[in-house]
Amino acid sequence: MIKSIIARLKQGYRTMPFPPAHMNLPARYLGLPRIKSPELAGAAAACPYGAISSGPEAGLDMGRCIFCGECAKAAPGAVEFTKDYRLCARSPGGLIVRDKDFKRAEALKGELRRIFRRSFRLRVVSAGGCNGCESDCNVLQTVGFDLGRFGVQFTASPRHADGILITGPVARNMELALRKTYAAVSSPKVVIACGACAIAGGPYAGHEECAGIPADIPVDLYIPGCPPHPLTILDGILRLIGRID
Ligand code: SF4
Repeated sequence: MIKSIIARLKQGYRTMPFPPAHMNLPARYLGLPRIKSPELAGAAAACPYGAISSGPEAGLDMGRCIFCGECAKAAPGAVEFTKDYRLCARSPGGLIVRDKDFKRAEALKGELRRIFRRSFRLRVVSAGGCNGCESDCNVLQTVGFDLGRFGVQFTASPRHADGILITGPVARNMELALRKTYAAVSSPKVVIACGACAIAGGPYAGHEECAGIPADIPVDLYIPGCPPHPLTILDGILRLIGRID
């Protein structure tokens, strides 16, 4: 017992401050894209997921992007990736990065913000995901990120939740489960699409076995990435409930 106490004292305080003053993300980490030139034809040709459009509406759609970096390699003068992990938006259109500043997710308004700001429970629905997004949600509950200190928790039951967080492209055999889970959450409730698959299908886009999030389940927050970094998920959730801006 005494050894355990000594070991715990040696470990010290492990929870990171959030938002962090400085964050040394790995060199290979690809965060918020920056469009350096409106000439994106070369970058668009290199993208395997059709996330980049050229022409008058040129831009990079983070909802489709899996952050593989191929576009920046093919056209380094047109696209680069920064280390900024703050990528979330309130609409699919808000995820499109053009040659001007990216507008981050705004908080819920009025009563919803008041209700959820200090206590927010989410039921995760893994709707055909590869477990990448699920793992990065799980790690938020460890001592390093300590999601609970913000009053945010993942629950085991939708009956105890204020909303659902969806991962995966919504395989057809998960569509009914998703609908039932959504229906079991009492109103008012919010929906979060976490990861490229949930937002736009990711690598499975267009596959006949992928239904996508049904149109009658309105999404309040889009968290891009494949998978999103835990910091991106945390940043998005806290922005949504008005804890940071
Ligand atoms: S990083 Fe995104 S936009 Fe660039 S090639 Fe990969 S999927 Fe396409």
